Amino acid sequence: MANYKLLINGELVDGASTMEVINPATETVLALCPRADEAQMEAAIQAAKAAFPAWSRRPIAQRRDLLLKLADTMDAQQEDLARVLTQEQGKPLGEATTEVLWTALFIRGIASQELPVKILEDSETMRVEQHRLPLGVVGAIIPWNFPLLLMAFKLPAALLAGNTIIIKPAPTTPLATLKIGEIMAGTFPAGVVNVVTDQNDLGGYLTQHPDVAKISFTGSSATGKKVMASAATSLKRLTLELGGNDAAIVLPGADPASVAQGIFNGAFLNAGQVCIAVKRAYVHESIYDDVVDRLAALAKQVVVGNGLDQGTTMGPIQNRMQYAKLKEFLEIARKDGRIVAGGEAEGQAGFFIRPTIVADIKNSSRLVQEEQFGPVLPVIKYSDPEEALTSANDSPWGLGGSVWGADREKAREIALRMYSGTTWINKHLDIGPAIPVCGAKQSGMGGELAEEGLLEFTQLHIINEAR
Ligand code: NAD
Repeated sequence: MANYKLLINGELVDGASTMEVINPATETVLALCPRADEAQMEAAIQAAKAAFPAWSRRPIAQRRDLLLKLADTMDAQQEDLARVLTQEQGKPLGEATTEVLWTALFIRGIASQELPVKILEDSETMRVEQHRLPLGVVGAIIPWNFPLLLMAFKLPAALLAGNTIIIKPAPTTPLATLKIGEIMAGTFPAGVVNVVTDQNDLGGYLTQHPDVAKISFTGSSATGKKVMASAATSLKRLTLELGGNDAAIVLPGADPASVAQGIFNGAFLNAGQVCIAVKRAYVHESIYDDVVDRLAALAKQVVVGNGLDQGTTMGPIQNRMQYAKLKEFLEIARKDGRIVAGGEAEGQAGFFIRPTIVADIKNSSRLVQEEQFGPVLPVIKYSDPEEALTSANDSPWGLGGSVWGADREKAREIALRMYSGTTWINKHLDIGPAIPVCGAKQSGMGGELAEEGLLEFTQLHIINEAR
């Protein structure tokens, strides 16, 4: 078994104890992983604090160069990283490779930005400049669905702006991140980046710590609320990227074939474990049966299996808890709707669920109202687009959404009234380093990526000089 280490103050070190990481495709132990204790988390915070003054004074171009070096090394090690990612996370090797490459691409994209000083006034009486200061030590808390890509939403922006960072991956997917930690040990000065793994028990230590200036958290809305309460004690800056329940509204006149394919891709990537996946589809009655049949046909073509096996197009659910939750949703689907494809995969080890299409289900069902975060898609029939829009917006979440139709004017008109951080038209789940993502309502606060994401790691500083 590979030997994984924490990264604290530039050193690769053992954890205070170890924990097992399970391969979700086999339910066997994949690796023993270091498990830090509070003293090690404290050491990481103090190392990040000590490294901050020198790192923040470095010219931005030097900070960028080190980030670009990290991206290049990730590219060079893509095969090893993707293999580890598949084994711990479950996604097929092709998707894992894409995640590694996208992580490098997002690091490059985010690191290409500048933080220029803006001149607000330059007159006979005064000169007013707007600067951006780094915040200090940042805590980056990451979930298990995209362990590397979601880290890349935080790390490059935090470091480019001059902050130092502690990265805390999810306990069920720490390994690829620890591999990146090894690369970073040879890339960044001691203390600038630290990687600390836990058994879901050190997040609170990080979020309440007075020496941590900002928390950038991606995860569930329930944990996000705890993070917010904890961060209040020292009034930390916060970015929260939380859950979602993205609706796709399919308008009358839409092409059933292309819509079914687009919605299928948007719903089942990473076995549906995507914050901005399509989680409920509202389809107009005039094309409902056709779209449902096509979605079912696509679901039946999927090869579910171990992500390392050639030909697998969908891996397992990432962890036992989420698998249990999805089995409950399958029960609800059987009760509240008609399963036209999928259901649980029987008779093999691993947390497998076949892509499941649930037709003839009411909007009030828990499968529609709650976030399933897995490959079980409810498809709801509607007759009036206004009714579909009302249902889409009637949710505590507001992460993403999409509108599908041949009439682009009508699709745009509905899209503009969807209350979400992102609304796509005739597509779903299209992101890039230069496009901000953010959640409305209980899907979060603040944004990541692009200029907005970078500025969230800074403090505004006005220099106002008399003349
Ligand atoms: P989670 O909230 O259980 O865990 C996320 C992270 O928080 C993990 O690293 C975990 O160890 C840590 N954590 C747990 N308790 C903590 C505490 N009290 N204080 C601080 N940190 C703590 O979420 P999850 O189950 O890993 O991820 C699934 C959820 O994440 C879904 O709801 C999904 O929609 C959401 N998600 C959102 C986005 C987004 O960008 N909005 C992206 C991916 C996932």
